[in-house]
Amino acid sequence: MNTAIRIATIWGIPIRLHWTFVLVMGWLVYLGIPDWQYFRGERAFWMFLSVFVVFFCILLHELGHAFMAKRYGVQTLQIMLSPIGGQAVLERMPKQPRKELLVALAGPIVNLCLAIIATPLLYLIPTDKLARLPQFFANPYGNTFLRLDYDERFIIGFIVLNFLVAVFNLLPAFPLDGGRILRALLSLRMNKLGATRIATFLGQGFAGVIVIFSLSNYNWLMAVIGLFIFISASMEYRYVKLDSKLNSFSVRDILRARFTKIYLIDSLAEIIKNWKEGSEKNFLVFDHEQRLTGVLTSPVLMEHKDFPTTSSVEELTSLDYEGVEATDSLMTIIRMMQEKDYEILPVYENQELVGVVDWNDVEHFIRIQKEKLR
Ligand SMILES: [Zn+2]
Repeated sequence: MNTAIRIATIWGIPIRLHWTFVLVMGWLVYLGIPDWQYFRGERAFWMFLSVFVVFFCILLHELGHAFMAKRYGVQTLQIMLSPIGGQAVLERMPKQPRKELLVALAGPIVNLCLAIIATPLLYLIPTDKLARLPQFFANPYGNTFLRLDYDERFIIGFIVLNFLVAVFNLLPAFPLDGGRILRALLSLRMNKLGATRIATFLGQGFAGVIVIFSLSNYNWLMAVIGLFIFISASMEYRYVKLDSKLNSFSVRDILRARFTKIYLIDSLAEIIKNWKEGSEKNFLVFDHEQRLTGVLTSPVLMEHKDFPTTSSVEELTSLDYEGVEATDSLMTIIRMMQEKDYEILPVYENQELVGVVDWNDVEHFIRIQKEKLR
């Protein structure tokens, strides 16, 4: 389901807006409805500026994560902006906990910096108003006779917002940044799965408290956010669990020892017939001296399935493959196949060809492992 709208691209990173962000905007407008007649002119200008700035601060937060990840050579696949501070989706997490810690910290630090940079602007606000601020925050709905102008409200709002975004994201609740920081710290002492289990457990605990507290206060939006944290936490745990499970397998666990050999002199029409009817979709190609010369993959056969006579096996054979060892870690091979778009790889043991790894088998294997985790 496509639940996000792409709005921009920065440093080659697609920036997407999650639908719940629109929900928050709707909520803000709803709050403005009782004062609808004032909802124009100067007031509307500051209101829209505020909304834009909230959005911008959250974006800067995510770019902070992306920037730090880039320093460690990790590409950010996309930035998703949602009400709980958005999410920078990294192609992978840095392996060392120390780096994961710094990537997680980078976001909240951006907001703390923004709050600190904006602090001198407080000098623009008359001192008598500033003096009453603590009293106002202690009881915002009480009658504190604090009449702030729009620009004054904006400055204070900016500082408070960035401070709150930083603090909220530092809560040790997975998948908030604080949860990642906690996991990274725990990972220094235990394995990643154990660390994730603890961070997830705490995250769900926090999320549960947020949901119960919000429901008892009729704060529906906050309850939704709590629920979102709860679900995200369990998803992350499942992902890490699958990752660590796949890490325990080697290529030997997935290799297919019986496979059809294709020769350069074979008839393409025959091969395509077998490809259509059989379960094998990707093939290794050999010459007349039984030497491996390349691979013939499903996408290529798909393209030529209707014109088998116009090409030869040799023309369609690709050199896009690398040999792997039966003892190689399965996870490494999966990453390699994903990155380089390999369909089939020859597997060797003691320099002898013992089988193939086919991407279709890999996908099937991952599906089965996922099922077992439920
Ligand atoms: Zn963050």
